[in-house]
Amino acid sequence: MQKMTVRDINIKGKKVIIRVDFNVPLDGEHITDDRRIAAALPTIQYALNNGVSKVILMSHLGRPKGAGFEKEFSLAPVAKRLEELLKEKVLLLNDCIGPAVKESISKSTERVVLLENLRFHKAEEKNDPAFAKELASLADVYINDAFGTAHRAHASTAGITAYLPSVAGFLIEKELQYLGSAINHPKRPLTVILGGAKVSDKIELIKNLIPKANSIIVGGGMAYTFLKAQGINIGNSKLEKDKVDLARELMEQAKKAGVEFALTTDFVITQSFTSDDCKISDVIPDGWESLDIGPKTIKRYEEILSKSKTVVWNGPLGVFERDAYAKGTRAIADYLASLKDVTVIIGGGDSAAAVSKFGLEDKMTHISTGGGASLEFLEGKELPGIAALNDKK
Ligand code: AMP
Repeated sequence: MQKMTVRDINIKGKKVIIRVDFNVPLDGEHITDDRRIAAALPTIQYALNNGVSKVILMSHLGRPKGAGFEKEFSLAPVAKRLEELLKEKVLLLNDCIGPAVKESISKSTERVVLLENLRFHKAEEKNDPAFAKELASLADVYINDAFGTAHRAHASTAGITAYLPSVAGFLIEKELQYLGSAINHPKRPLTVILGGAKVSDKIELIKNLIPKANSIIVGGGMAYTFLKAQGINIGNSKLEKDKVDLARELMEQAKKAGVEFALTTDFVITQSFTSDDCKISDVIPDGWESLDIGPKTIKRYEEILSKSKTVVWNGPLGVFERDAYAKGTRAIADYLASLKDVTVIIGGGDSAAAVSKFGLEDKMTHISTGGGASLEFLEGKELPGIAALNDKK
């Protein structure tokens, strides 16, 4: 069922409360990356341009104790940056619920009000109904535009929908469009690239994707458990011993479904995880571990990708944070950036961080703003913050 969006509801003259994801990285009071604030602007601006009487914004930031105000987790730096981006005054309140908050909103001359960090109250993450009702009492319409927290049933993402007409903002709409069509009706062939540290984090994802994908490429730390299942020596490389049988089963399932399953075939190996002293090798001898894919693997992956029309990428292919082991992830990111007429979707989290590190963000069709949320969506799970929104009539 399709969800109502902000376009499907009359907001003129109304107070709208928007759940945004302003959980930005901070260095003291300095925002080191403001993309999450920028990503919320289209919905905020739409509301302002469509005659709302007030835009009330709410977000969490970091992991405060949940026992009241903590300066370190204040949204003050966000309010400042938001003012610059919106080019209009933003009123930051010192709490998110209560009579003083209500009074400040009704007296405010600013069109945009930012509530203080939701997680200053434990009730937020507990999805406490009384807290959700308090938040709802501030407005007439609820808009969820925080894709990054849509996989959590919190008061501001799910609970609040019991009390207000509830619709999706443009960011959530865009995420659902890109992630949804890539998985459910992609231009084929569909290739999924999976990497990252652990098989256990990606089992549900692989299970959900086997019936949908044409090819599955597995690299990164998780590949070695699959290689072990094929009887290949992996030395000291990352291994989840208790997942070897499952890895074998998943490869058999893929084979039965006619899905190409491409594993790492050559390696960048080192004798110590902390050392940058490494070499390219077709095998991983005892005492060595592999921290990146080698050039033959890169070539093989590129061949598969060259035939693809849709690519979904989740998880780095090596220890990309260190230059010595970033070549594989970079080569594949560069190759994806060079493809024409191919839809390339980057899952949030580490793969998004890798693409950003290589300065290739503009070259991808869509980079998800939610790590956990995009993973759960691609696993085929229902995201509570989206399920709770009103269905389109
Ligand atoms: P994840 O959070 O599961 O997406 O995993 C991302 C992490 O996996 C990154 O921090 C990478 O450094 C790490 N990683 C990727 N490849 C390897 C590898 N071959 N060995 C160990 N860690 C890896």
